[in-house]
Amino acid sequence: MTSKCQFAILGGVPRNTTAKSEVQPSPAPTPRVAVPKARQLAFVYAPAIEGLSYPPDCPFKTQRAMLTRSKIASFGLLGAPNSLELAARPATAIELQQVHSAPYLEELQRAAAGDLTAAGFRMGLGGPDTPVFKDMFEYSAWACGAALVAAEQLISGQADIAFNLLGGFHHAMPARAGGFCYLNDVALACDALTRAGRRVIYLDVDAHHGDGVQEIFYERSDVFTISMHESGKTLYPWGGFENEIGRGPGLGFNVNIPLPAGTYDDAFLMAFERLAVPLIGAYRPDVIVLELGMDTLAGDPLTHLQMTNNVVVEVLKRLMDFQCPLLVAGGGGYHVENTVRAWALAWRTCLGDDEEDALSMGLGGVMLGSSEWAGGLRDRHLPIPTTERAAVDAELQTTLERVGTHVFPHHHLVPNRTKTPGD
Ligand SMILES: [Zn+2]
Repeated sequence: MTSKCQFAILGGVPRNTTAKSEVQPSPAPTPRVAVPKARQLAFVYAPAIEGLSYPPDCPFKTQRAMLTRSKIASFGLLGAPNSLELAARPATAIELQQVHSAPYLEELQRAAAGDLTAAGFRMGLGGPDTPVFKDMFEYSAWACGAALVAAEQLISGQADIAFNLLGGFHHAMPARAGGFCYLNDVALACDALTRAGRRVIYLDVDAHHGDGVQEIFYERSDVFTISMHESGKTLYPWGGFENEIGRGPGLGFNVNIPLPAGTYDDAFLMAFERLAVPLIGAYRPDVIVLELGMDTLAGDPLTHLQMTNNVVVEVLKRLMDFQCPLLVAGGGGYHVENTVRAWALAWRTCLGDDEEDALSMGLGGVMLGSSEWAGGLRDRHLPIPTTERAAVDAELQTTLERVGTHVFPHHHLVPNRTKTPGD
């Protein structure tokens, strides 16, 4: 078991020290300025998935991971001294059974082979958002295997931050498919981390509620799930409200932060800062799993949020302040170009490369919905009309108050004073 993460913002212990401090005969003088250790990054990928795809008319495009890999390579950011690329492997049936039922796995493979049974249909296979297609099991198993490789890297300490952009299939339930998701790679990674003795924060910032992960860990406290998503009042899967806070031993360890349609960068970051950050700090995790769906970006064809990829930078920097091992998973993102650029930006942020900050002046991107992107990786600021901001802010206040009331007392936190993004 490794030491708890360092909580720089809460005044934690320095990294790489153990909870039991050893007696030193002549302690070294404390440096005036701490020099952070360069983080080791791992990009987990499988060329084999390039031949696998969803049906052409399905919005989920398996090519996004490959395109992101190409983009970060084109920026010279793959193979940097503190990063490595790792080959994924498909998860085995035994591994998949850690979160999925054997009958479900059987029906999934049977459907992929062209035999969708009534039992498979009752398990969600063959619905509008869960098409049956040849590669459905194989692709999902690769995504899960990649998630396990990423988790193994963090457990062994060979990487501090591991990316697996193949999946982020947070809607998959133990015995039910949903929302383009068949096998839950992120839940599998969280479970593997707990079996290695880690306390896990699962933070989901996809536009959709992470209902599958919630379901799997709803009665457990060793995986603390926090989902920030467009409200179930306006978006699939139509749930994920503030009063869903876990059950039994998991009571207080499931948090939903529904966001109103139209949520913009500052509003999201205010909710993140005032709710997610203190909860993560209070939990003192050993590792953070981030589901980084990019269907939150303005211009996504399936959702109704108005965010830019600058939020990705802020969220990752804040999470890296915790000095925890971090698994960055993919997720939604149905404007492929914007999603790929945001994930490349995430990788660059984790490398600690802020080079573009002074010259983020591209054209196109989420602002114009244009493919004529001629800048770096960051989006430009997206202006939001005052009336739209006010409507979002008002609804978000209710969310802040509800989450504070429902969950903060479980973690000995005092609900925050209400505050608007402009405060
Ligand atoms: Zn999504």
